[in-house]
Amino acid sequence: MRDVVIIGAGVIGCSIARELSKYNLNICLIEKDNDVATGISKANSGIIHAGFNEKNGTLKAKFNVEGNRLYDSLSKELDFTFKRNGAFVLAFNEEDLETLHNLKSNGESLGIEGLEILSKEEVLKIEKNINPKVLAALHAKSSGIVNPYEVTIALAENAALNGVDFIFDAEVTSIEKCIDSYKLKLKNNDCLESKVVINAAGLNSDYINNLINNEKYDLIPVKGEYCLLDKIAGNMLNKTVFQVPNKISKGVLVTPTVDGNLLVGPTANSIKDKYSLENTKDNLELLLQKASNSIVNIPTNRILTTFSGLRPHLERKDFIVEELKDNKGFINLLAIESPGLASAPAIALYVKDLVSKTLPLKSKEDFNPYRKRLLRFTELSLDEKNKLISKNPAYGKIVCKCELISEGEIVDSINRPLGAKTVDAVKRRTRATMGGCQGVGCLLPISKIISRELGIDISEVNKNADSSPVVGFKEV
Ligand SMILES: Cc1cc2nc3c(=O)[nH]c(=O)nc-3n(C[C@H](O)[C@H](O)[C@H](O)COP(=O)(O)OP(=O)(O)OC[C@H]3O[C@@H](n4cnc5c(N)ncnc54)[C@H](O)[C@@H]3O)c2cc1C
Repeated sequence: MRDVVIIGAGVIGCSIARELSKYNLNICLIEKDNDVATGISKANSGIIHAGFNEKNGTLKAKFNVEGNRLYDSLSKELDFTFKRNGAFVLAFNEEDLETLHNLKSNGESLGIEGLEILSKEEVLKIEKNINPKVLAALHAKSSGIVNPYEVTIALAENAALNGVDFIFDAEVTSIEKCIDSYKLKLKNNDCLESKVVINAAGLNSDYINNLINNEKYDLIPVKGEYCLLDKIAGNMLNKTVFQVPNKISKGVLVTPTVDGNLLVGPTANSIKDKYSLENTKDNLELLLQKASNSIVNIPTNRILTTFSGLRPHLERKDFIVEELKDNKGFINLLAIESPGLASAPAIALYVKDLVSKTLPLKSKEDFNPYRKRLLRFTELSLDEKNKLISKNPAYGKIVCKCELISEGEIVDSINRPLGAKTVDAVKRRTRATMGGCQGVGCLLPISKIISRELGIDISEVNKNADSSPVVGFKEV
């Protein structure tokens, strides 16, 4: 019998796992895919929003503002990159300007510091590539950027280090309520029993809820499509640049990423299929057209790739984070759309308090809050590089020639706690395949390294959880 089972290894499930790993509990996190951060937490804007968009009195506002403040210490403990680069919301007419003033006073009522309205001249002095037709901008100094899957992996690795068991390829298909516990059945017919169950299943959290709760939900996937540009384009901006928000989303943004690329997106289109992630030419053209209202001369010839993510939307427009009234110990997290990433550390603290209503929480004396990121060979000095290569020549073999990722780093990404098992899992941990050639040159060498390190045939190495093998034949 487990104390806590968490369903879903996105940023929400992993934040909760890490928070609860501070206490003497027997915790297990179950994930239907074969890695962490394969759902919504893999494909979003990566903004740690300041929170001025969120309505006072909502969970979104509470968790966003609290979560934003927690990111400095979290990024230090878990050694992931977090930059408080600040954000602009641009106004192009008097109506937009009124919206900026409303956003500013809403933000101030939430206790957000560092909000100011800048004139056209001030804006263009700071960001020279902003459309000169701009009238003014709201500047939010506390807005920041992260790589969302780097955050998720860091949380998960630290939770695992502190005793949380991760079970992958484990899809929950039914839940039965017992006297003081819940029995969960998995697709492969395995069963788990737990006193507390936490539903952090992202786009499927309605399905998990509907297995146990009389109040049914039906999440609406709202697709957000993106263009990712290379690091030359990444030099165009320092701030995250928004247009005034609309009813569904915070609007199209253009932002540098923590890795130095430029990100343009997202669109916002309600769809029916929770697994439809394809991009369309029309949507991307419209996206780039909208983005060109904010930033002039976006170099579209520098687009490396396009991708999309799905928001788990509910008409009521706020997060649901609660223990079910008729099912003590069953904690539901639904509609965790934006600003879910920014809110994750605060949501985890709130859920910890909900868990404490069912289970006594005793702090672990040996909890280790720290996790070290993977070594990044390119960031070392020449002397350090030479010393490392003389100890382990694999660091001297560059496998991904665009991002300069060595064999040593790829091996490290496979042999860590919760290590990579697919090419995309290596990508999310090292950036290999993320450069100009998008993996054309290194897909096969990476597959061979995975095959060697995991002791599996190359025909069993997949690009990602859903794909077919990279190589369609058995090596003899
Ligand atoms: C386009 C877009 C842009 C966004 N931009 C931002 C932003 O800039 N800033 C911000 O703060 N937020 C942003 N968000 C929101 C943020 O990305 C999400 O709130 C957050 O990633 C949700 O994480 P999660 O853990 O709830 O979901 P997920 O990451 O999807 O994790 C849920 C996990 O549950 C697993 N699962 C599902 N069903 C089962 C089952 N039956 N059994 C076992 N496992 C299961 C899934 O495989 C998945 O891994 C954005 C979202 C989108 C879509």
